[in-house]
Amino acid sequence: MNVNCVLVTGDHRALLVDTGSTREEGLELRQAVETQLEGRALVVVNTHAHYDHCFGNSAFEDVDSFASRGCVSDLLGSGSAQRRLAAESFQANDPGFADRLGSAPISVAHRLVDNSETLDLGGVRAELRVVGRGHTDHDLMVVLPELGAVLAGDLVEEGGLPALEDAYPLSWPLALAGLLELGTELVVPGHGRPVSPQFVAQQLEQLHRLAEWCRQQLEGGGSLAEYEGPFTSEHLKTALERARIELQAGSARGEGAGPRSGPLP
Ligand SMILES: [Zn+2]
Repeated sequence: MNVNCVLVTGDHRALLVDTGSTREEGLELRQAVETQLEGRALVVVNTHAHYDHCFGNSAFEDVDSFASRGCVSDLLGSGSAQRRLAAESFQANDPGFADRLGSAPISVAHRLVDNSETLDLGGVRAELRVVGRGHTDHDLMVVLPELGAVLAGDLVEEGGLPALEDAYPLSWPLALAGLLELGTELVVPGHGRPVSPQFVAQQLEQLHRLAEWCRQQLEGGGSLAEYEGPFTSEHLKTALERARIELQAGSARGEGAGPRSGPLP
């Protein structure tokens, strides 16, 4: 499902959240965004390092840009490996897209966010908050207090189940609980339609049950058949593998300890 790239406009700045999957998508997005700027300065932020959210970055290299330290570290450490795997996965069904994806330059944000950063867009604040472990080890969400909204990246997924391949399933429910504590009326997921806090609460419950199941499995009890919920046996295997990695990486949140993370040069 297509990624949600969101433009938030204030009186004197506009913030674009995520840049698409390829340089071509990024350029197309930039063209569309520029028709909306009306003299405002543009700022870009990446929610996380998955290709569909940030491989369009190279179209915005001259623009002030932000991402969590872990996001930049991940892209620099394993962005090219991710690019190769993602391109291979599309080769059979969409070879044109696979080629564009495979040739996307790895471009990272200029400014690193360690915990949080507030951007004044002019009458609208955008609070960039590093959540830590959830969908990845470096998710960043954008809170818009004046608009009563939060742009959640892939911490929230509409139209499909949460993606677990790089996830920290034991911590993800905590990340969503933190999001709900914000009390915002509108949540824009990384994919799919905007959702309500009630939707997020349901997804939290699904992830909580998944985390509990993983904990039971890792403590030696239970079997695959004992899980009741929307995740398939394939998802459960992925979740369990990720939970094992999460436990090995330790309990501290947001340290960037996942296997795909790499150090900054
Ligand atoms: Zn993602």
